[in-house]
Amino acid sequence: MAAARSVLNFQSFTSQALSADDVHLIESSVEQFGAPLLLLDCDIVRQQYRALSAALPNVTLHFALKPLPHPVVVRTLLQEGASFDLATTGEVELVAQEGVPAERTIHTHPIKRDADIRDALAYGCNVFVVDNLNELAKFKAYRDEVELLVRLSFRNSEAFADLSKKFGCSPEQAVNIIEMAKEWNIRIKGLSFHVGSQTTNPQKYVEAIRTCKGVMEEVVARGLPALSTLDIGGGFPVNYTKQVMPIDQFCLPINEALAELPETVQVIAEPGRFIVAQCMMSVASVMGQAERDGQMWYYLDDGVYGSFSGLIFDDAQYPLVTLKQEGERVPSVLAGPTCDSIDVIAEDILLPKLDNGDLIVGRMMGAYTSATATDFNFFKRAQTVVFNELAENSERMIG
Ligand SMILES: *Cc1c(COP(=O)(O)O)cnc(C)c1O
Repeated sequence: MAAARSVLNFQSFTSQALSADDVHLIESSVEQFGAPLLLLDCDIVRQQYRALSAALPNVTLHFALKPLPHPVVVRTLLQEGASFDLATTGEVELVAQEGVPAERTIHTHPIKRDADIRDALAYGCNVFVVDNLNELAKFKAYRDEVELLVRLSFRNSEAFADLSKKFGCSPEQAVNIIEMAKEWNIRIKGLSFHVGSQTTNPQKYVEAIRTCKGVMEEVVARGLPALSTLDIGGGFPVNYTKQVMPIDQFCLPINEALAELPETVQVIAEPGRFIVAQCMMSVASVMGQAERDGQMWYYLDDGVYGSFSGLIFDDAQYPLVTLKQEGERVPSVLAGPTCDSIDVIAEDILLPKLDNGDLIVGRMMGAYTSATATDFNFFKRAQTVVFNELAENSERMIG
């Protein structure tokens, strides 16, 4: 579904009420398409991509599709000149469908089936990630076609998702993998890491970059071919209910650490959340209500099995607002539509008395929301309405 150019206020960290324009747009979208909805603003995708590009001027950004694998996001970023980070055959198919040149992609799942490798290669993506010898051995058959990144692990208990518990190797193991690759005639392009999603402390990147620099030096010292690429992963933070550092400031120490690398090293990154978290708003409507133990419970047509799945899978807390502003606010409960008791979106949230049909808006609903939604209990996922697909001053480049 597409809607005309809009002026939706997708601002993130704010307890502000929605503007009159927003309210009009939200109400007219619900009138037209029904609820629940996700409103996706491509201008925010552009804005975030440009902000991170400016904050990391010497880094090629590969958008990680995982948090929001939507075709319109791929199209928008392709027009912006972005590159892409793929992890599955489904993601390969999506970028192929949208005409993304394969040279602009890397495949970063550390653990792959042979078919995953073949599908990516058939498309033309030839950069892959390994973090152990078992995985490296899978590439003996493709040694003439591929270049590999070795993924290191840096634990981070503060992140929403500490991806280094599940993936990555130690610096010593990385050197072993690189030695074995030489023996097996497999090209190693460089190193990668992911410091954890929604990492709010830039020093995590700085430490990881320094360790990788050490591994690169060790590789040269052992007479192995010098590494040409460092992939600093994703993890860049956004404002949910707590404010994080502005992205320019966040990236300053990262850029300083990157400047210590040899000039021959190309740096790339795999941002996901930062690019898309802010670009979607959710709109749910009250389908019923009950007073329980003296508190009002409002049952919405979207919940943790739907767009709010990130409450479970992602640790995120989304800023929520009601369209209705008047009336005394009392602690209330917002619940999802399914018959399961875990399906509660917010407890003790201050709300005015709501009527059935009233709308609740969630902000910062772009990353790891619809991507992990289900149709549990046959409650259909929210439909997505796309705004501002055409950039204001540019022609649409691809279909
Ligand atoms: C999920 C993921 C990303 C994106 O991470 P964000 O924290 O959303 O920026 C990047 N790279 C890999 C390998 C991932 O698994």
